[in-house]
Amino acid sequence: MAVSDPRILVAYAGGTIGMKETAEGHVPVSGYLQKQMQELPPFQADDVPTYDIHEFDPLLDSSNMAPEDWLRIAEVIQEHYSTYDGFLVVHGTDTMAFTASALSFMLHPLDKPVVLTGAQLPLDETRTDAQGNLLTSLLLLGQYPDRLAGVHLCFDDRLYRGNRTTKVNADSFSAFASPNYPAVGTAGINLDVDWSLVPASESPARSPNITPLGEATVSTFRLFPGMEARHLDNLLSPPVQGVVLECFGSGNAPEEEAFLDTLRRATDRGVVLVAVTQPLRGTADLNLYATGQALAEAGVVSGYDMTTEAALAKLYYLFDHGYTAEAVRDQMQTNLRGELTPPDDVPPALGRARRRLARFR
Ligand code: ASP
Repeated sequence: MAVSDPRILVAYAGGTIGMKETAEGHVPVSGYLQKQMQELPPFQADDVPTYDIHEFDPLLDSSNMAPEDWLRIAEVIQEHYSTYDGFLVVHGTDTMAFTASALSFMLHPLDKPVVLTGAQLPLDETRTDAQGNLLTSLLLLGQYPDRLAGVHLCFDDRLYRGNRTTKVNADSFSAFASPNYPAVGTAGINLDVDWSLVPASESPARSPNITPLGEATVSTFRLFPGMEARHLDNLLSPPVQGVVLECFGSGNAPEEEAFLDTLRRATDRGVVLVAVTQPLRGTADLNLYATGQALAEAGVVSGYDMTTEAALAKLYYLFDHGYTAEAVRDQMQTNLRGELTPPDDVPPALGRARRRLARFR
């Protein structure tokens, strides 16, 4: 049903976007973002939807954010769900992809849009990207409140599925990428959304349920040449429940016996080990090489083309939801919120290349 006069709630969590230059450097200052948005003419334009700002206290540099902060954001959205038609989460860029991934699992079902944005430069800087990011996000929310269900991230004229994003550049205005899923929207002269890339709206809910994250003990580990089993020993010891292993290439690791044995023993204790790829693009397919198969035999499951951010958030979600280790292993390989491409869905040309490679195993 078309929304005639959409109302948007801006949940302002912090980040560079609203910071002010002070004697101590750039710091988030309460009320400063709101004041500028009230004064800047583009925010008063007729096509900008009506919005209210909920400012978090304290405003945070996103490097200081933890799962309890994800929960605060989710709770604000849940509390105001029936009053607003869409939600704009204004957030620091450093951990925005983690928050976007986490919210996509925590808030369910979600039949309204949640868009995260931020900026590389504060709104009060001359060459800021903040104004464009805020306005594009607000206009998208105002234009498609009834179609853009789910968690998205809008940055530098691109709209991405939130749990497919990763921060790829600390300096450029193009700070984010969605390496394994196309951008769902582009802001050029028009605001174009490819609706075939947006999941159908989840069944209408009075307000989404929230799964609080952060109780589970999960972590990530990036493999490196020269690592030894002892590097993993601490990480895998109790009470750890799940670890995202950032593997080489298409899900490979050394076939060294002590290393594999450490993984095997962790699996036997009920630790869930999930392989993702270090390369930005592609999928962790443990069936492709002997080095990947050795991981699978040690109990590691494939996280396919999930980002580390999505895989970590998903581990939190599944354990905090109360799943057993066996069920977590199963669900990590299943597409729940559009966060992974199941192996059957890889484009045919890539599938052919993989089959060819498999012959050399
Ligand atoms: N450190 C800042 C943050 O993530 C960086 C930014 O917002 O761009 O909060």
